Amino acid sequence: MQCPYCVKEMEIGLIRSPHEVSWFPGTKKPVFARAKFHDGSVVLSTLSHFNGSAVAAWLCRGCEKVIIDFSDGACDMNG
Ligand SMILES: [Zn+2]
Repeated sequence: MQCPYCVKEMEIGLIRSPHEVSWFPGTKKPVFARAKFHDGSVVLSTLSHFNGSAVAAWLCRGCEKVIIDFSDGACDMNG
């Protein structure tokens, strides 16, 4: 994948967590970390009690950007 900022080739990798990985609207840290308690949130990786969570993500080291494709559960490595 090419970086949309500098057009150089990006590196695929994983973002890992011992918890569910979710995106929440706004910039305030939610009190409850589970996405199901927040309207408009997006679950990027459901929690596996054995493996934690893992999300596939593209990295550009030059621009210091990370891109996550969450279409059709593409990002959830616990699938
Ligand atoms: Zn870049």
